[in-house]
Amino acid sequence: MKYKSIRGMEDILPPDIYIWRDLEKKARIDLESYGYVEIRTPVIEDTSIFVRSIGEDTDIVTKEMYTFKDKKGRSLTLRPEGTAPIVRAYIEHSLDKISPELKLYYIGPMFRSERPQKGRSRQFHQIGVEVIGSNSYLADAEVIMQMSNMLRYVFKLNGFKIKLNSLGCKKDKEKFSDKLRKYLKEEESMLCQDCKTRIKKNVLRVLDCKKESCVQVARNAPNILESLCLPCEDNFKKLKTTLTNIKIKFEETKNLVRGLDYYTGTVFEVTHPDLGAQDAIGAGGRYDNLTKDLGGPTIGAVGYALGMERIIMALKKEPRKVSRVVYIATIGDEAKIRGIQIAEKIRIKSNSCLTVLTDIKGASLKSQMRSADKNKAKLVVILGQDELKISKATIRDMAKQEQIPIKLDNVVEEVIKRMGL
Ligand SMILES: [Zn+2]
Ligand SMILES: [Zn+2]
Repeated sequence: MKYKSIRGMEDILPPDIYIWRDLEKKARIDLESYGYVEIRTPVIEDTSIFVRSIGEDTDIVTKEMYTFKDKKGRSLTLRPEGTAPIVRAYIEHSLDKISPELKLYYIGPMFRSERPQKGRSRQFHQIGVEVIGSNSYLADAEVIMQMSNMLRYVFKLNGFKIKLNSLGCKKDKEKFSDKLRKYLKEEESMLCQDCKTRIKKNVLRVLDCKKESCVQVARNAPNILESLCLPCEDNFKKLKTTLTNIKIKFEETKNLVRGLDYYTGTVFEVTHPDLGAQDAIGAGGRYDNLTKDLGGPTIGAVGYALGMERIIMALKKEPRKVSRVVYIATIGDEAKIRGIQIAEKIRIKSNSCLTVLTDIKGASLKSQMRSADKNKAKLVVILGQDELKISKATIRDMAKQEQIPIKLDNVVEEVIKRMGL
Protein backbone atom coordinates (compact mmCIF):
# COMPACT_ATOMS: atom_id res chain seq x y z
CA MET A 1 0.00 0.00 0.00
CA LYS A 2 1.35 3.36 -1.04
CA TYR A 3 0.09 6.51 0.63
CA LYS A 4 -0.07 9.78 -1.24
CA SER A 5 -1.18 13.30 -0.37
CA ILE A 6 -4.76 14.09 -1.38
CA ARG A 7 -5.10 15.27 -4.98
CA GLY A 8 -4.61 19.03 -5.21
CA MET A 9 -3.09 19.26 -1.73
CA GLU A 10 0.64 19.76 -1.91
CA ASP A 11 3.57 19.32 0.45
CA ILE A 12 5.90 22.29 0.71
CA LEU A 13 9.45 20.95 0.94
CA PRO A 14 12.93 22.41 1.25
CA PRO A 15 14.41 24.36 -0.45
CA ASP A 16 11.06 25.95 -1.48
CA ILE A 17 10.05 26.34 2.15
CA TYR A 18 12.69 29.06 2.49
CA ILE A 19 10.97 31.14 -0.19
CA TRP A 20 7.68 30.75 1.69
CA ARG A 21 9.21 31.74 5.02
CA ASP A 22 10.96 34.69 3.43
CA LEU A 23 7.71 36.03 1.93
CA GLU A 24 5.78 35.52 5.16
CA LYS A 25 8.43 37.27 7.23
CA LYS A 26 8.73 40.23 4.88
CA ALA A 27 4.95 40.56 4.56
CA ARG A 28 4.57 40.73 8.35
CA ILE A 29 7.20 43.44 8.70
CA ASP A 30 5.74 45.48 5.84
CA LEU A 31 2.11 45.15 6.96
CA GLU A 32 2.91 46.02 10.56
CA SER A 33 4.64 49.20 9.38
CA TYR A 34 1.19 50.30 8.12
CA GLY A 35 -0.43 49.50 11.47
CA TYR A 36 -1.90 46.12 10.53
CA VAL A 37 -2.25 43.50 13.27
CA GLU A 38 -2.42 39.78 12.65
CA ILE A 39 -5.59 37.72 13.08
CA ARG A 40 -5.86 33.91 12.90
CA THR A 41 -9.29 32.37 12.52
CA PRO A 42 -10.05 28.62 12.35
CA VAL A 43 -9.77 26.94 8.93
CA ILE A 44 -13.27 25.57 9.40
CA GLU A 45 -16.51 27.52 9.84
CA ASP A 46 -20.26 27.13 9.83
CA THR A 47 -21.24 26.65 6.15
CA SER A 48 -23.94 29.33 6.32
CA ILE A 49 -21.31 32.07 6.89
CA PHE A 50 -19.90 31.49 3.41
CA VAL A 51 -23.26 30.96 1.71
CA ARG A 52 -24.62 34.17 3.22
CA SER A 53 -21.56 36.31 2.41
CA ILE A 54 -20.08 34.99 -0.85
CA GLY A 55 -23.55 34.35 -2.27
CA GLU A 56 -25.47 31.10 -2.85
CA ASP A 57 -25.35 31.31 -6.65
CA THR A 58 -21.62 31.99 -6.96
CA ASP A 59 -19.16 29.44 -8.37
CA ILE A 60 -17.37 29.19 -5.03
CA VAL A 61 -20.50 28.21 -3.11
CA THR A 62 -22.15 26.03 -5.75
CA LYS A 63 -19.09 24.13 -6.98
CA GLU A 64 -15.92 24.72 -5.02
CA MET A 65 -16.48 24.41 -1.27
CA TYR A 66 -15.32 21.52 0.90
CA THR A 67 -18.54 21.08 2.85
CA PHE A 68 -19.37 18.11 5.06
CA LYS A 69 -21.43 17.12 8.07
CA ASP A 70 -19.78 16.45 11.43
CA LYS A 71 -20.91 13.68 13.79
CA LYS A 72 -23.72 15.84 15.16
CA GLY A 73 -25.01 16.60 11.66
CA ARG A 74 -23.81 20.23 11.55
CA SER A 75 -22.78 21.50 8.11
CA LEU A 76 -19.18 22.71 8.19
CA THR A 77 -16.95 24.14 5.46
CA LEU A 78 -13.21 24.47 5.06
CA ARG A 79 -12.75 28.18 4.46
CA PRO A 80 -12.59 29.02 0.72
CA GLU A 81 -11.50 32.61 1.50
CA GLY A 82 -10.52 34.78 4.45
CA THR A 83 -12.87 37.75 4.53
CA ALA A 84 -16.10 36.15 5.78
CA PRO A 85 -14.45 34.39 8.78
CA ILE A 86 -12.72 37.64 9.77
CA VAL A 87 -15.95 39.61 9.61
CA ARG A 88 -17.55 36.84 11.69
CA ALA A 89 -14.76 37.20 14.28
CA TYR A 90 -15.01 41.01 14.14
CA ILE A 91 -18.70 40.88 15.07
CA GLU A 92 -18.39 38.01 17.56
CA HIS A 93 -15.66 39.74 19.61
CA SER A 94 -16.82 43.36 19.04
CA LEU A 95 -13.42 44.19 17.59
CA ASP A 96 -14.58 47.71 16.74
CA LYS A 97 -13.82 48.43 20.42
CA ILE A 98 -10.09 47.85 19.77
CA SER A 99 -9.98 50.60 17.18
CA PRO A 100 -12.62 52.41 15.13
CA GLU A 101 -10.48 51.78 12.04
CA LEU A 102 -9.16 48.28 12.48
CA LYS A 103 -6.45 46.99 10.12
CA LEU A 104 -6.15 43.22 10.17
CA TYR A 105 -3.94 40.84 8.18
CA TYR A 106 -3.81 37.08 7.83
CA ILE A 107 -1.53 34.47 6.31
CA GLY A 108 -2.81 30.95 5.90
CA PRO A 109 -4.37 28.11 3.89
CA MET A 110 -7.69 28.29 2.01
CA PHE A 111 -9.54 25.40 0.38
CA ARG A 112 -11.44 25.12 -2.90
CA SER A 113 -12.15 21.90 -4.78
CA GLU A 114 -11.42 23.14 -8.28
CA ARG A 115 -9.75 21.01 -10.94
CA PRO A 116 -6.09 21.03 -9.88
CA GLN A 117 -3.62 22.47 -12.38
CA LYS A 118 -0.40 24.44 -12.35
CA GLY A 119 -0.85 27.39 -10.01
CA ARG A 120 -4.18 26.08 -8.71
CA SER A 121 -4.11 23.77 -5.70
CA ARG A 122 -7.09 22.68 -3.63
CA GLN A 123 -5.26 23.82 -0.54
CA PHE A 124 -3.70 27.17 -1.41
CA HIS A 125 -2.29 29.96 0.71
CA GLN A 126 -3.13 33.62 0.96
CA ILE A 127 -1.71 36.78 2.44
CA GLY A 128 -4.62 39.13 2.95
CA VAL A 129 -5.75 42.30 4.68
CA GLU A 130 -9.06 43.73 5.87
CA VAL A 131 -9.46 47.38 6.83
CA ILE A 132 -12.74 47.67 8.72
CA GLY A 133 -14.16 51.06 9.69
CA SER A 134 -13.69 53.45 6.78
CA ASN A 135 -15.99 54.42 3.93
CA SER A 136 -13.42 56.69 2.34
CA TYR A 137 -11.51 56.22 -0.92
CA LEU A 138 -8.43 57.01 1.20
CA ALA A 139 -8.60 53.53 2.72
CA ASP A 140 -8.86 51.99 -0.78
CA ALA A 141 -5.88 54.04 -1.92
CA GLU A 142 -3.73 52.97 1.02
CA VAL A 143 -4.71 49.30 0.66
CA ILE A 144 -3.86 49.29 -3.05
CA MET A 145 -0.63 51.23 -2.49
CA GLN A 146 0.57 48.89 0.27
CA MET A 147 -0.24 45.84 -1.88
CA SER A 148 1.50 47.24 -4.94
CA ASN A 149 4.58 48.45 -3.07
CA MET A 150 4.92 45.21 -1.11
CA LEU A 151 4.84 43.19 -4.33
CA ARG A 152 7.27 45.51 -6.09
CA TYR A 153 9.74 46.60 -3.43
CA VAL A 154 9.49 43.99 -0.69
CA PHE A 155 8.85 40.80 -2.70
CA LYS A 156 10.80 42.27 -5.67
CA LEU A 157 8.19 41.15 -8.19
CA ASN A 158 8.07 43.04 -11.47
CA GLY A 159 5.75 43.08 -14.42
CA PHE A 160 2.42 42.76 -12.60
CA LYS A 161 -0.63 44.82 -13.50
CA ILE A 162 -3.38 46.25 -11.32
CA LYS A 163 -6.83 46.32 -12.88
CA LEU A 164 -9.35 48.64 -11.27
CA ASN A 165 -13.09 49.16 -11.48
CA SER A 166 -16.05 50.27 -9.37
CA LEU A 167 -19.31 48.37 -8.93
CA GLY A 168 -21.00 51.30 -7.16
CA CYS A 169 -23.16 50.94 -4.08
CA LYS A 170 -25.82 48.23 -3.65
CA LYS A 171 -28.41 50.34 -5.53
CA ASP A 172 -26.04 51.05 -8.43
CA LYS A 173 -25.16 47.38 -8.63
CA GLU A 174 -28.84 46.39 -8.79
CA LYS A 175 -29.59 49.06 -11.39
CA PHE A 176 -26.69 47.89 -13.54
CA SER A 177 -27.62 44.21 -13.12
CA ASP A 178 -31.09 44.94 -14.55
CA LYS A 179 -29.60 46.85 -17.46
CA LEU A 180 -27.09 44.09 -18.15
CA ARG A 181 -29.75 41.38 -17.95
CA LYS A 182 -31.81 43.17 -20.58
CA TYR A 183 -28.81 43.47 -22.89
CA LEU A 184 -27.77 39.82 -22.40
CA LYS A 185 -31.28 38.50 -23.05
CA GLU A 186 -30.98 39.86 -26.58
CA GLU A 187 -27.58 38.20 -27.07
CA GLU A 188 -28.46 34.98 -25.27
CA SER A 189 -27.87 32.71 -28.28
CA MET A 190 -24.21 33.78 -28.36
CA LEU A 191 -23.56 32.80 -24.70
CA CYS A 192 -22.17 29.57 -23.29
CA GLN A 193 -24.39 27.26 -21.22
CA ASP A 194 -22.96 28.52 -17.92
CA CYS A 195 -23.59 32.15 -18.85
CA LYS A 196 -27.18 31.38 -19.83
CA THR A 197 -27.72 30.24 -16.24
CA ARG A 198 -25.74 33.20 -14.92
CA ILE A 199 -28.19 35.68 -16.54
CA LYS A 200 -30.77 34.57 -14.00
CA LYS A 201 -28.57 33.83 -11.00
CA ASN A 202 -25.30 35.76 -11.12
CA VAL A 203 -25.51 38.13 -14.05
CA LEU A 204 -22.31 40.15 -13.43
CA ARG A 205 -20.19 37.04 -13.85
CA VAL A 206 -21.09 36.85 -17.54
CA LEU A 207 -18.72 39.81 -17.92
CA ASP A 208 -15.66 37.83 -16.93
CA CYS A 209 -16.44 34.52 -18.66
CA LYS A 210 -13.36 33.43 -20.59
CA LYS A 211 -15.22 31.72 -23.49
CA GLU A 212 -14.52 33.57 -26.73
CA SER A 213 -18.14 34.14 -27.78
CA CYS A 214 -19.01 35.42 -24.29
CA VAL A 215 -15.99 37.76 -24.36
CA GLN A 216 -17.40 39.19 -27.61
CA VAL A 217 -20.79 39.81 -26.03
CA ALA A 218 -19.20 41.32 -22.91
CA ARG A 219 -17.16 43.73 -25.01
CA ASN A 220 -20.28 45.57 -26.14
CA ALA A 221 -22.12 45.33 -22.83
CA PRO A 222 -23.22 48.51 -21.03
CA ASN A 223 -20.50 50.07 -18.85
CA ILE A 224 -21.05 49.72 -15.12
CA LEU A 225 -19.42 53.12 -14.49
CA GLU A 226 -22.36 54.75 -16.29
CA SER A 227 -24.71 53.35 -13.65
CA LEU A 228 -22.90 54.89 -10.67
CA CYS A 229 -24.72 57.45 -8.53
CA LEU A 230 -22.98 60.81 -7.99
CA PRO A 231 -21.28 60.02 -4.65
CA CYS A 232 -19.99 56.68 -6.01
CA GLU A 233 -18.75 58.33 -9.20
CA ASP A 234 -17.03 61.06 -7.19
CA ASN A 235 -15.38 58.50 -4.86
CA PHE A 236 -14.03 56.51 -7.77
CA LYS A 237 -12.64 59.66 -9.40
CA LYS A 238 -10.90 60.68 -6.18
CA LEU A 239 -9.41 57.22 -5.78
CA LYS A 240 -7.99 57.30 -9.31
CA THR A 241 -6.54 60.81 -8.81
CA THR A 242 -4.95 59.77 -5.52
CA LEU A 243 -3.40 56.61 -7.00
CA THR A 244 -2.01 58.59 -9.92
CA ASN A 245 -0.51 61.16 -7.56
CA ILE A 246 1.15 58.54 -5.36
CA LYS A 247 2.50 56.86 -8.49
CA ILE A 248 0.59 53.60 -8.30
CA LYS A 249 -0.07 52.35 -11.82
CA PHE A 250 -3.45 50.85 -12.64
CA GLU A 251 -5.65 50.08 -15.63
CA GLU A 252 -9.31 50.97 -15.51
CA THR A 253 -11.07 47.76 -16.61
CA LYS A 254 -14.79 48.04 -17.28
CA ASN A 255 -15.58 44.31 -17.15
CA LEU A 256 -13.84 43.58 -13.88
CA VAL A 257 -16.57 42.37 -11.50
CA ARG A 258 -15.15 39.71 -9.08
CA GLY A 259 -16.94 36.48 -8.25
CA LEU A 260 -18.16 37.22 -4.74
CA ASP A 261 -21.52 38.81 -4.01
CA TYR A 262 -20.33 40.93 -1.09
CA TYR A 263 -18.28 43.36 -3.16
CA THR A 264 -19.58 46.89 -3.75
CA GLY A 265 -17.66 50.02 -4.81
CA THR A 266 -13.99 49.63 -5.64
CA VAL A 267 -12.82 46.27 -6.98
CA PHE A 268 -9.34 45.39 -8.21
CA GLU A 269 -7.27 42.49 -9.43
CA VAL A 270 -3.52 41.94 -9.84
CA THR A 271 -2.34 39.85 -12.76
CA HIS A 272 1.06 38.69 -13.98
CA PRO A 273 1.59 38.08 -17.72
CA ASP A 274 3.99 35.15 -17.17
CA LEU A 275 1.39 32.97 -15.47
CA GLY A 276 -0.68 31.91 -18.49
CA ALA A 277 -4.38 31.16 -18.07
CA GLN A 278 -4.29 31.41 -14.25
CA ASP A 279 -2.77 34.88 -14.33
CA ALA A 280 -4.36 36.46 -11.23
CA ILE A 281 -2.02 36.75 -8.26
CA GLY A 282 -4.47 38.60 -6.09
CA ALA A 283 -7.66 40.61 -5.86
CA GLY A 284 -9.73 42.69 -3.55
CA GLY A 285 -12.27 45.41 -3.09
CA ARG A 286 -14.84 47.06 -0.87
CA TYR A 287 -17.55 45.21 1.04
CA ASP A 288 -19.52 47.91 2.83
CA ASN A 289 -22.62 45.75 3.45
CA LEU A 290 -21.03 42.53 4.64
CA THR A 291 -20.67 43.36 8.34
CA LYS A 292 -24.32 44.37 8.50
CA ASP A 293 -25.43 41.34 6.46
CA LEU A 294 -23.71 39.01 8.94
CA GLY A 295 -25.48 40.66 11.87
CA GLY A 296 -22.98 43.37 12.85
CA PRO A 297 -22.88 47.15 12.64
CA THR A 298 -23.10 49.10 9.37
CA ILE A 299 -19.47 49.82 8.67
CA GLY A 300 -17.35 50.37 5.56
CA ALA A 301 -14.56 47.90 4.79
CA VAL A 302 -11.99 47.09 2.14
CA GLY A 303 -9.41 44.33 1.69
CA TYR A 304 -7.41 42.12 -0.61
CA ALA A 305 -5.94 38.62 -0.77
CA LEU A 306 -2.79 37.56 -2.60
CA GLY A 307 -2.16 33.96 -3.63
CA MET A 308 1.22 32.85 -2.32
CA GLU A 309 1.60 29.95 -4.80
CA ARG A 310 1.03 32.37 -7.69
CA ILE A 311 3.50 34.96 -6.34
CA ILE A 312 6.16 32.28 -5.93
CA MET A 313 5.50 30.97 -9.46
CA ALA A 314 5.85 34.49 -10.85
CA LEU A 315 9.02 35.14 -8.84
CA LYS A 316 10.56 31.95 -10.19
CA LYS A 317 9.82 33.04 -13.75
CA GLU A 318 11.67 36.30 -13.29
CA PRO A 319 15.37 35.63 -13.61
CA ARG A 320 17.27 37.17 -10.75
CA LYS A 321 20.68 36.66 -9.33
CA VAL A 322 20.60 39.42 -6.81
CA SER A 323 22.72 38.73 -3.77
CA ARG A 324 21.57 40.06 -0.43
CA VAL A 325 24.82 39.34 1.35
CA VAL A 326 27.16 41.99 2.75
CA TYR A 327 30.53 41.01 4.19
CA ILE A 328 32.42 43.20 6.67
CA ALA A 329 36.14 42.53 6.35
CA THR A 330 38.39 43.85 9.13
CA ILE A 331 42.06 44.27 9.91
CA GLY A 332 43.10 44.60 13.56
CA ASP A 333 41.30 44.30 16.89
CA GLU A 334 39.78 47.78 16.93
CA ALA A 335 38.41 47.28 13.43
CA LYS A 336 36.87 43.95 14.48
CA ILE A 337 34.80 45.70 17.17
CA ARG A 338 33.73 48.45 14.75
CA GLY A 339 32.91 45.75 12.21
CA ILE A 340 30.55 43.98 14.59
CA GLN A 341 28.84 47.30 15.40
CA ILE A 342 28.43 48.31 11.77
CA ALA A 343 27.12 44.84 10.80
CA GLU A 344 24.44 45.06 13.49
CA LYS A 345 23.42 48.57 12.36
CA ILE A 346 23.03 47.35 8.77
CA ARG A 347 20.88 44.40 9.89
CA ILE A 348 18.58 46.72 11.86
CA LYS A 349 18.42 49.40 9.17
CA SER A 350 17.55 46.81 6.51
CA ASN A 351 14.76 45.32 8.65
CA SER A 352 16.75 42.09 8.58
CA CYS A 353 16.35 41.93 4.78
CA LEU A 354 20.11 41.68 4.31
CA THR A 355 22.45 38.96 5.46
CA VAL A 356 25.48 40.62 7.04
CA LEU A 357 28.55 38.49 7.75
CA THR A 358 31.68 39.38 9.75
CA ASP A 359 34.95 37.58 10.41
CA ILE A 360 34.51 35.21 13.36
CA LYS A 361 37.78 33.35 12.95
CA GLY A 362 40.36 36.11 13.23
CA ALA A 363 41.32 35.38 9.63
CA SER A 364 43.63 37.36 7.35
CA LEU A 365 42.18 39.92 4.94
CA LYS A 366 42.90 37.61 2.02
CA SER A 367 41.06 34.74 3.61
CA GLN A 368 38.15 37.07 4.57
CA MET A 369 37.85 38.18 0.94
CA ARG A 370 37.76 34.52 -0.10
CA SER A 371 34.99 33.90 2.42
CA ALA A 372 33.04 36.93 1.08
CA ASP A 373 33.36 35.49 -2.41
CA LYS A 374 32.25 32.02 -1.31
CA ASN A 375 29.20 33.50 0.41
CA LYS A 376 28.35 35.39 -2.80
CA ALA A 377 28.54 38.79 -1.12
CA LYS A 378 27.52 41.70 -3.33
CA LEU A 379 29.41 44.24 -1.21
CA VAL A 380 32.39 43.99 1.10
CA VAL A 381 33.00 46.75 3.62
CA ILE A 382 36.72 46.88 4.41
CA LEU A 383 37.81 48.38 7.72
CA GLY A 384 41.57 48.82 8.11
CA GLN A 385 43.57 50.08 11.10
CA ASP A 386 44.99 53.15 9.34
CA GLU A 387 41.71 54.06 7.67
CA LEU A 388 39.90 53.82 10.96
CA LYS A 389 42.22 56.45 12.47
CA ILE A 390 40.98 58.98 9.92
CA SER A 391 37.35 57.73 10.20
CA LYS A 392 37.27 56.19 6.76
CA ALA A 393 36.39 52.82 5.22
CA THR A 394 36.24 51.20 1.79
CA ILE A 395 33.26 49.59 0.10
CA ARG A 396 34.07 47.01 -2.57
CA ASP A 397 31.42 46.11 -5.14
CA MET A 398 32.27 42.51 -5.97
CA ALA A 399 30.43 42.35 -9.32
CA LYS A 400 31.64 45.69 -10.65
CA GLN A 401 35.09 45.12 -9.14
CA GLU A 402 35.31 48.71 -7.95
CA GLN A 403 36.42 50.16 -4.61
CA ILE A 404 34.78 53.24 -3.15
CA PRO A 405 36.40 55.15 -0.27
CA ILE A 406 33.81 56.41 2.18
CA LYS A 407 33.47 58.22 5.51
CA LEU A 408 32.88 55.80 8.36
CA ASP A 409 29.71 57.65 9.39
CA ASN A 410 28.15 57.08 5.96
CA VAL A 411 28.89 53.37 5.61
CA VAL A 412 25.48 52.08 6.78
CA GLU A 413 23.49 54.48 4.55
CA GLU A 414 25.69 53.73 1.56
CA VAL A 415 25.40 49.95 1.96
CA ILE A 416 21.59 50.18 2.23
CA LYS A 417 21.47 52.35 -0.88
CA ARG A 418 23.83 50.17 -2.91
CA MET A 419 21.91 47.02 -1.96
CA GLY A 420 18.83 48.62 -3.50
CA LEU A 421 16.71 48.98 -0.33
ZN1 LIG B 1 -23.78 54.62 -5.58
ZN1 LIG C 1 -19.79 32.22 -20.85
